[in-house]
Amino acid sequence: EAKRAGRNCARFYLPAMNQALDTRMALESALRLALSSNSLALHYQPKVRLSDGALVGAEALLRWWHPQHGQVPPDTFIPMAEECGLVNALDAWVLEAACAQLASWREQGVAIQAVAVNVSPTRFQQDDVAAHVHSLLQKHDLRAEQITLEMTERLLLEHETRTVDQLNQLHSMGVRLSIDDFGTGYSSLSYLKRLPVSELKLDKSFVRDLETDADDRALSSAVIGIGRALGLAVVAEGVETEGQRRVLIEAGCEIAQGYFFARPQSAQDLQAWLKLR
Ligand code: C2E
Ligand code: MG
Ligand code: MG
Ligand code: MG
Repeated sequence: EAKRAGRNCARFYLPAMNQALDTRMALESALRLALSSNSLALHYQPKVRLSDGALVGAEALLRWWHPQHGQVPPDTFIPMAEECGLVNALDAWVLEAACAQLASWREQGVAIQAVAVNVSPTRFQQDDVAAHVHSLLQKHDLRAEQITLEMTERLLLEHETRTVDQLNQLHSMGVRLSIDDFGTGYSSLSYLKRLPVSELKLDKSFVRDLETDADDRALSSAVIGIGRALGLAVVAEGVETEGQRRVLIEAGCEIAQGYFFARPQSAQDLQAWLKLR
């Protein structure tokens, strides 16, 4: 792993890139430190039923506060961690933290029954994902159905036998598998026939202009239709307005996430949010 990391992370030596490279290497070692010193945190965004706003679960989203740079967005540090071979450790940390949180909510009588975590494609190239989930379920006395793993279509492009093995194992345990950012990758749809997927997440780029853009409306309806025809749950991402909510309900979508309902927030804030409803 370290060898591979070294190769991937330090391959450019052009003078013009020195500055960028320095910053990047500094960021990488800061991220390593954050992981080992437990200065990462999870925020949770509610997943709600569109018809009545009932909570159906929460997605865990990783947060990193850099001592100098402040909050670094995951869209910046996750790709970096993928290149350096650090993302598997991050994803494992997230899974453990999310399972512990779920158990703690249960103990406190908080009505959040399910969490979704994002898993990077590289994590599935290791052969211990299903075993790791299994041990966490035992440790925290959770049911497999309480855990959803979100992965992007990028995972399916590679389509390694090891990945497919892991997905089948997870599915037979009862863990839910979700395709994140559905429709933005380059995969063919045929994987939906072969792989044990439970959920599609309609990417927020299709949701943003739903009220004004007929093409986005058509694409969203098509995705929702595919999901329903295959018996999959469809979750709309990035719902920010009542208008978007209305269009999605009309198109037959049942579950959503977005600022219109709640932002990703700390576990504590989420508990307070739940009480206020
Ligand atoms: P994602 O899994 O597709 O997560 C949805 C992103 O949309 C999140 O960004 C969320 O904060 C944001 N979002 C939620 N509601 C709205 C809304 O109404 N409007 C808009 N404009 N955005 C909304 P975030 O937290 O910055 O995460 C970005 C991406 O980073 C995630 O996309 C996911 O791919 C990745 N990521 C986050 N946490 C992890 C992790 O623990 N492991 C891995 N491998 N990837 C992660
Ligand atoms: Mg996600
Ligand atoms: Mg997504
Ligand atoms: Mg997305």
